[in-house]
Amino acid sequence: MRTPIIAGNWKMHKTVNEALDYFASFKGAAKEGVEIVLCVPFPALYPLAKEAKGTGIGIGAQNMHFEEAGAFTGEVSPGMLTSLGVEYVILGHSERRTLFGETDEAVNQKVQAAVKHGLTPIICVGETLEEREEDRTREIVRDQVVKAISGFRSEEVKKMVLAYEPVWAIGSGKASTAEDAQEVIQFIRNVVADQYDQQVANEIRIQYGGSVKPNNIDSFLAQPDIDGALVGGASLDPESFGQLVAAA
Ligand code: PGA
Repeated sequence: MRTPIIAGNWKMHKTVNEALDYFASFKGAAKEGVEIVLCVPFPALYPLAKEAKGTGIGIGAQNMHFEEAGAFTGEVSPGMLTSLGVEYVILGHSERRTLFGETDEAVNQKVQAAVKHGLTPIICVGETLEEREEDRTREIVRDQVVKAISGFRSEEVKKMVLAYEPVWAIGSGKASTAEDAQEVIQFIRNVVADQYDQQVANEIRIQYGGSVKPNNIDSFLAQPDIDGALVGGASLDPESFGQLVAAA
């Protein structure tokens, strides 16, 4: 059985003080049998990782560089994250891909660096509206998944988390239907089986993301292949994020 994972992606929101206030009211939401992760801006990682120790809530970054160190002004390395007690990192979010030119190759290098450092990558894939309308969803998503997870051992792939986030559903208030998300996520699981084997495909967790709210999360979680959610907007308020955790 796969443990559901509910992850919040704060994006570029909250100062350190706001993050600490949030955590103080959220920490009681920890729940047996549900993996909970807060992916917060870099400045809030250290204070929150300290607060989160022993609470059952994991802390994640939203990006990182794949190099260990060097002349990369403005970047943060995987070792810097783990030294703070950070355990997860979102990689290949569509905002990184479209606004910051992140390629599939860079995403793969970052996944390699994350695995090497023992960070759990939450790897995002998804099609744009145009691609969906051209009926290219499967082709796009397959390509992104294959490139992101290539070159690993089965044992490493099993521990990764994939997030299917249709770009048109992110921040739009227009979530995918649970049935459509299930269909694509089942397809992704088959891609993983093709690339590795059925056991890896059975064990890897695949989230849905894109306008997940307290009033629609049940429909996603009821799908056999959907193992949780990656949540942007609705993770910014501790109460609504707590409701999402409670639903899992
Ligand atoms: P949203 O964002 O929940 O605000 O749609 C999801 C995401 O970008 O991960």
